[in-house]
Amino acid sequence: MSMPATHPAHRQAWHAMTADQALAALQADKAGLSADDAARRAVQFGANRMPEAERPNVLMVFLRQFNNALIYVLIGCIVITAMLQHWLDSAVIAAVVSVNAIVGLVQEGRTEKAMDAIRQMLAPTATVLRAGSRMMVSGEALVPGDIVLVEAGDKVPADLRVLSAHSVSVQEAILTGESATVDKQHAPVAADAGLGDQSCMLFSGTIVATGQGHGLVVATGADTQIGRISGLLTQVDTVSTPLVEQMGVLSRWLTALILVIAALLLLYGYFVARHPFDSMFMAVVGLSVAAIPEGLPAVLTITLAIGVQAMARRNAIVRRLPAIETIGSVSVICTDKTGTLTRNEMVVASVLTGEHTFALDGDGYAPAGVVRLDEADANVAEHTVLGQLAQAAALCNDAELTCRDGNWVVEGDPMEGALLALAGKIGVEAAEARRLWHRTDAIAFDSRHRFMATLHHDHAHHALVYVKGAPERLLGMCRDQRGPSGGTQALDRTAWEQRAEAIADSGQRVLAFAVLGVPGDKTVLEQSDLEGSLTLLGMAGMIDPPRPEAIAAVQQCRGAGIGVKMITGDHARTAAAIARQVGLEHHGLVLTGADLDRMDEQALGAAVMACDVFARTSPEHKLRLVMALQAHGMTVAMTGDGVNDAPALKRADVGIAMGRKGSAAAREAAKVVLADDNFASIVAAVREGRTVYDNIKKVISWTLPTNAGEAATIVVALLFGMTMPVTPIQILWVNLVTAATLGFALAFEPTEENTMRRAPRRRTEALIGATLAWHIVLVALLFLAGVFGIFSYALARGYPVELARTMALNTLVAMEIFHLFFIRNIYGTSLTWKAVRGTRVVWVTVIVVFLAQLAITYLPPLQNLFGTRAVALLDGLLIFATGVALFVIVEIEKQIRLRLSPAAGEVRQAGAAA
Ligand code: ADP
Ligand code: MG
Repeated sequence: MSMPATHPAHRQAWHAMTADQALAALQADKAGLSADDAARRAVQFGANRMPEAERPNVLMVFLRQFNNALIYVLIGCIVITAMLQHWLDSAVIAAVVSVNAIVGLVQEGRTEKAMDAIRQMLAPTATVLRAGSRMMVSGEALVPGDIVLVEAGDKVPADLRVLSAHSVSVQEAILTGESATVDKQHAPVAADAGLGDQSCMLFSGTIVATGQGHGLVVATGADTQIGRISGLLTQVDTVSTPLVEQMGVLSRWLTALILVIAALLLLYGYFVARHPFDSMFMAVVGLSVAAIPEGLPAVLTITLAIGVQAMARRNAIVRRLPAIETIGSVSVICTDKTGTLTRNEMVVASVLTGEHTFALDGDGYAPAGVVRLDEADANVAEHTVLGQLAQAAALCNDAELTCRDGNWVVEGDPMEGALLALAGKIGVEAAEARRLWHRTDAIAFDSRHRFMATLHHDHAHHALVYVKGAPERLLGMCRDQRGPSGGTQALDRTAWEQRAEAIADSGQRVLAFAVLGVPGDKTVLEQSDLEGSLTLLGMAGMIDPPRPEAIAAVQQCRGAGIGVKMITGDHARTAAAIARQVGLEHHGLVLTGADLDRMDEQALGAAVMACDVFARTSPEHKLRLVMALQAHGMTVAMTGDGVNDAPALKRADVGIAMGRKGSAAAREAAKVVLADDNFASIVAAVREGRTVYDNIKKVISWTLPTNAGEAATIVVALLFGMTMPVTPIQILWVNLVTAATLGFALAFEPTEENTMRRAPRRRTEALIGATLAWHIVLVALLFLAGVFGIFSYALARGYPVELARTMALNTLVAMEIFHLFFIRNIYGTSLTWKAVRGTRVVWVTVIVVFLAQLAITYLPPLQNLFGTRAVALLDGLLIFATGVALFVIVEIEKQIRLRLSPAAGEVRQAGAAA
């Protein structure tokens, strides 16, 4: 029934207490809280969560939609038309404005949902000790009194009083603004020390840069130091990207331009052509409303929000929204091997000792199975080295195996899990071994030095150091090797290297183990203790099969003109074997970190294009490789998981962190986080990125020409003194029914068939290039031809002008619909069954627009309001045919254009292989 008497919110000077005093004050224990106690405290103290910023209510969000320059113009129109007593016009423009606001509201709701989902997927976890065993819990489940383990790369999950720290240094910039790291230790400091000097405290939200340690949770949620200043943390990210911002600027300029043109027309019409001011003004209002792309920014934002959600469904979480644009233009993906291309489900398949090579059976992490020697079951007891190696594997190990419903699962690094299973197969039980030889110090694994060491003491005060790591690294640290009788013998380095390479060639990841006896009073382990003094015990080879979906994804990249480079810390032979298995063509060329070190920037620039597999690299190499690739003008995606990967992740055009095995430091630096660490998810994200970009382009390519066509109709009629083929109020109507329907539908377009068979778009490619400009002109001309054509045809047949206008109006809408079907496929033909079938959204909007047009054409009340007449069936077919004609013409034009410039078309094979 332990329960701290004081609420931690009654701030205590935790930094001035000794560790034991702090534990006592929270009635906590070094072995962690019991499950019951933790549950009780969770009720008492609440979840370890930052207080959420208050969200504006729906009404506020709705009203905010009107706060926009484009809308001001429209509101101005409402006021003036009302003053002129054109009530209907005021009402229709008001309806346009409201529809727009509703679209904006929906869009913000969608954005919120997308961002919420992302926040949930990125929810932090923490490693705690509860009732003596180590487990992962969600960061929210931490309570005061919990014992938390932290290591390099972690984000501190709550305010902690340090209980132990092995070379722990922390980045506290978010709290103190100080960018240099500060060292942490466990001794109390002066009571009046400032936050930056409280070296025995770890503060929530700061990032551990080096070392490992554990601490006592003293404050959670809003009680933490960061929680007290958390206003700046909970601000909501708005959905925007450079592209959308550019479009916002563009549409503001367009509006200004349109207003200038409108004003000039008004002056011209009134003073030169001598039209009555009233009707002139209404025409100009119709023109402005038709031409202003008022809905465009909102539709683009919806397109992005849909893209973010689609990526999240494919396990790619976009942390920085601009990345959604860049990821579609990626031309090379630099990826990890372990866990990304492979499953990261390891099994030890072979064990090498001085004189024997053993083979192992069994799959999964079950710590049971047989060890075989020369095709026969080996008697493990006969081989003392084997037992020592198993002991090293079990002790120099941070993972834990647990059996859940008959399934053995790993808590921690899968490779270490496999080693625990190996120990079990040899007959060493990890828990038992850890009880006999408790760990007193450790040097954590770091991908720079590629080994890990632990110091252990037994109850009789004997001490041992176990080391495991990359074979070349360990061989360099060994003085001798364990002989068959248990003694030591000379180290045969060449023989070991050859044997290690032989198993690496089959794709196995090789790890070496060594031991060192030290005096019993040794309590602090240092790297210098190990160099040149170890005794090699043996090696283990682990299988980590490639992910089948990664093989397919590599294939897809080749088709999409995207290069794939494997950058791994693993052995060159292992890397080459896995590269072969996943289908990376590497022409037998593998460069190691040491090779890269010998190259200057120029040599590296050439090598980076020629070579696809880089082995034994450290994080610094990743940074050099990113820069070398960028120097070739490539858009680089780079994966990373360790603390030291942050610079490369930041530098890459799209930094991608691993959600599972990755450190918080890597996640903070990355723009995209993979929920499943899977290479295939990167490729899926690229595909979604291309889709989003295409859809943005489609929305724009539909909106601008359509607006231009509508506006041109009015301008031409005014300038040439013709009878208006469509009245201003009718133009307003068209805007009302199409803006929130057709304009919206393209945001939901699925991926085009050949999306992943196109070469990556160049990053510098302009969105509104010559092609789109030409398309705008062409479509505007076709709209003019269609509307005026039908209008004059009707007049020539002797129809009253109202009927002629109704037909012209319907022609305009028909052409917009057919233009939409054309835009849906900008890269391929629109004449496939799939293209015609369309999406549900497209058909719903088309049906809505069609019904609206039937209503305005045939319903008497609407006929009276808008001055329309019923259209005969044959004439209706003629209108339909005009739409078809527009479609045929622009489709033929597109086919010719695609054939003339293959750049937008499919990837040439040669380009893909390079
Ligand atoms: P990868 O690119 O496969 O993720 P890492 O940088 O994680 O490579 O590891 C590089 C090498 O370091 C491995 O091949 C292995 O030899 C060694 N190694 C990896 N993890 C550990 C560990 N936990 N303890 C000791 N050595 C390790
Ligand atoms: Mg790794």
